[in-house]
Amino acid sequence: MFSGGLDSTAVLVRLLSETADDLRVHHIRMVNREGRADAEQRATDAIVAWCHAHYRAFQYSQSTLDFSCLEAIPIDYLSVAYVACQVAIDTPGCDRIAVGTLARDLDEIKRSVCANQRRVFAAMYECYLTRKLGEPALEWLYPVYALTKPQIASMLPADLLHLTWSCRRPVHEGTNFKPCGTCKPCAARASISAALTISI
Ligand SMILES: [Zn+2]
Repeated sequence: MFSGGLDSTAVLVRLLSETADDLRVHHIRMVNREGRADAEQRATDAIVAWCHAHYRAFQYSQSTLDFSCLEAIPIDYLSVAYVACQVAIDTPGCDRIAVGTLARDLDEIKRSVCANQRRVFAAMYECYLTRKLGEPALEWLYPVYALTKPQIASMLPADLLHLTWSCRRPVHEGTNFKPCGTCKPCAARASISAALTISI
């Protein structure tokens, strides 16, 4: 599951460079009132092209969840669980799902994210299994779980690092996007820049 951010890009790089697994990389266009879908889409397109050119071939697909008419913003990890289930069923022989969740960034409440995500997924996947669809056993992988954000930024090639997008509330500037500089992911990127004394 690929968002175009730092963490899932690091997952993609690890799986492409450290395994010979057949990969299906899937991006969800999260359309909601944050207005981040187009900025993420641009990053995703660029990262996928870069990885195809510099690593190896992989399948790529995307889908859209459009909640732009709602005031409430759906929880990302629930959206990911829902779409991952449909993608797993759509991918013959799929028995693993990789996500870019990090342990060290999670506070006490969010530590249950991984378990909750798998629980939501399992309830949906079970509906398919009763229809004899999907692999009987499916594993969740967390390839960058033990890494810190600065470690992740350090492991990405510089060109690729600069293609990633983190901001949740991009500012439109003509046909371009600028990070808002104030949302939580923007603050995280600023602290990575400070820690590594690089500009990202
Ligand atoms: Zn931001």
